[in-house]
Amino acid sequence: MKTIGVLTSGGDAPGMNAAVRAVVRTARYYGMKVKGIRRGYKGLIYGDIFEMETGDVSNTLQRGGTFLLTARSAEFKEKDVVEQAVKTAKYFGIEGIVVIGGDGSFRGAKDLAEQGMPVIGIPGTIDNDIPYTEYTIGFDTAVNTAMEAIDKIRDTTSSHERCNIIQVMGRNSGAIALSAGIATGAEAILVPEIPYDFEEDILRSINLGKVRNKTHFIIVVAEGVGGCEELATKIQEVAGIETKLNTLGYLQRGGSPTAQDRVTASKMGSRAVELLREGKTNRIIGIKNNDMYDIDITEGLEIKNNEPSDLARLAKIISI
Ligand code: ADP
Repeated sequence: MKTIGVLTSGGDAPGMNAAVRAVVRTARYYGMKVKGIRRGYKGLIYGDIFEMETGDVSNTLQRGGTFLLTARSAEFKEKDVVEQAVKTAKYFGIEGIVVIGGDGSFRGAKDLAEQGMPVIGIPGTIDNDIPYTEYTIGFDTAVNTAMEAIDKIRDTTSSHERCNIIQVMGRNSGAIALSAGIATGAEAILVPEIPYDFEEDILRSINLGKVRNKTHFIIVVAEGVGGCEELATKIQEVAGIETKLNTLGYLQRGGSPTAQDRVTASKMGSRAVELLREGKTNRIIGIKNNDMYDIDITEGLEIKNNEPSDLARLAKIISI
């Protein structure tokens, strides 16, 4: 393979730039050409494609977001649009594409593969919600951002002896909530994977805390749980404690990536190029038992995760 393309798609995640940088530098190391594709699959459809050199990725490693830009493309779900995208890619001499994104982007990549364009997927999403991999690029940065914000909220919550509900991102996954909640010593963590009981999981914890003269109650809630406003009203009414709601929102998607995200992205970016070079195509790279591995894209996307996280059990034991 002499020329490869690289794109970022779906929700942006800190570390995507580090992955693109590793793709470009590794490809150039092996004498391959690299074409950057702007705005994910949109750029592939409309030919927003440019040649990238080693210098084009200088000063990007430490930047959040994605300098290749990202987008969502509803039309890419149509077969004739994917066929057109493959034609465009071939017109630009692209023989294989590295797709950096979440599971939606990987489904698009699978369609590309089925239309004859070899692909490699790199998991980039703050949500850490793709079951075939233990880790996705951007997760550690997002958890650290949430942790810093929650620490700050705790100061004011404590001073006013309040309860504070903090809603974190994660779509249908409780991964960010669990890690950020454990890292900040939250009194309760609510995730969509495990139904909660108001009396047992919240009221009891607040009442036990009151007995121990606790001055604050931090409840971290994953966005997939929903109903945060109603929960705040209920706590205020039933437990008699002033309750505020904070939704952290998009700040969790931005910021300079942590060392873990930079290093993981660099390793995955480089591996993606090596796989294409070796002719091992239509695979997605992930982490399994703390080691990097790759798996066929169709097989990988079929993996389901029904196991509640060990962190959920840990949180129950130590969050009092
Ligand atoms: P993420 O990759 O972060 O999960 P999305 O789910 O928004 O983000 O997907 C990004 C893009 O991938 C979509 O805009 C669309 O172009 C493509 N895509 C998503 N789901 C599918 C699917 N089921 N089939 C084909 N393409 C898809």
